[in-house]
Amino acid sequence: MKKLELHWQILIGMLLGILFALGMVQFNWGPQFISDWIKPFGTIFINSLKLIAIPLILAALIKGVSDLRDISSLSKMGLRTISTYIITTVVAVSIGLTVVSLVKPGGSINEDTRTELIEAYGGDAEMKRQDAKKQQDAGPLQALEDLVPSNIFSAASSNRNMLQVIFFAVFFGIALILIPEEKGATVKKFFDGFNEVILKMVDLIMLSAPYGVFALMAALVVEAPSTDLFAALGMYAFCVILGLALMVVFYIALVKGFTGKSPKFFMNGIAPAQLLAFSTSSSAATLPVTMERVTEHLGVEEEVSSFVLPIGATINMDGTSLYQAVAAVFIAQAFGIDLSFGTQLGIIATATLASIGSAAVPGAGMVMLVGVLGYAGIPEAGLALIFAVDRPLDMCRTVINVTGDASVSMLVAKSADKLGDPSPKNWDDNYDDVK
Ligand code: ASP
Repeated sequence: MKKLELHWQILIGMLLGILFALGMVQFNWGPQFISDWIKPFGTIFINSLKLIAIPLILAALIKGVSDLRDISSLSKMGLRTISTYIITTVVAVSIGLTVVSLVKPGGSINEDTRTELIEAYGGDAEMKRQDAKKQQDAGPLQALEDLVPSNIFSAASSNRNMLQVIFFAVFFGIALILIPEEKGATVKKFFDGFNEVILKMVDLIMLSAPYGVFALMAALVVEAPSTDLFAALGMYAFCVILGLALMVVFYIALVKGFTGKSPKFFMNGIAPAQLLAFSTSSSAATLPVTMERVTEHLGVEEEVSSFVLPIGATINMDGTSLYQAVAAVFIAQAFGIDLSFGTQLGIIATATLASIGSAAVPGAGMVMLVGVLGYAGIPEAGLALIFAVDRPLDMCRTVINVTGDASVSMLVAKSADKLGDPSPKNWDDNYDDVK
């Protein structure tokens, strides 16, 4: 019998997880059972992915940069990557603003519902606000200062410091290009092999993905907050999801237009990474799988993917920026604040920057949203309005963050003439889905 493709297996795992949890909550002891006996497997699965994120960035970027062989092709690819990332982010924010202005979801929230939501979630939102306050207190050059670690081992000890690890890896890669070839050969070979080992680890972890997402979804269902207030937020969530769906259309058109690859090819190739992004809400945890899919199933040469994707996972968050724009305008509408055209343009700029600054972990986009609200003079208490639905929307925007990185990597590969045919190495992959 033909083996079911991985993305179907993952999807079935997710659905079964939801159904299982919905069944279990009928029993008094059900939620506790899931927390004690099912959730840990989800945590183990995410941890095993996060475990290899930093070694993967180190190995992939050092290999990627040093494969470029000269500094001019590095700066050319770097420039292309960053500028395409910024363009897609600005498109995302603009789509978000258009949708939320047309649908006006905040208009339907009345005074009572607003008070109810703020009372229900005010405390949780306060924590986010304090996190954001710490970031706002920093000086104007803090972000630049934070880029350079004072100790690579302490930087590599936390997944939150990915940008610092990227800095080190690119710096190391550049130095490797600059030394005589015979001296660098062994080091390069080491990182090539190291990279292969990490990618194989991803393959092995992915074998357990359907079970991992089963556990993650089951835990999510039993931990979900009350659903009563969700109706009031339905239109807001609809705007975010509609905007995100339009982004998928945009990526598909971009990939088709610039590389000639069909939507089916693109979506089939990236699907397992999307499903994983959905279940983990973390582009950082998904990165190893994004790398594997893009390289082996979308035909992007490793030289490009190992450079473009780690950077994308950290700075390119189209879904997050779109969400931030919609959320800011929604809160303004709910409080009856009219935003001028100038303020809306400012939201494009601040949401772009805020998404670049968001860490690739669950909930980070909401912390950075505070900056956008602050800029536009929208009350921060509004965070409490959207708190209840933030997790499901986080799951959806992370899918777009990952899809955006994958499409840009195809564009950059095409422009550098490094887009070939897919070459799955993994014995478990289904070869049919890559044609
Ligand atoms: N969870 C998102 C990510 O990891 C970031 C966010 O929007 O909260 O890509």
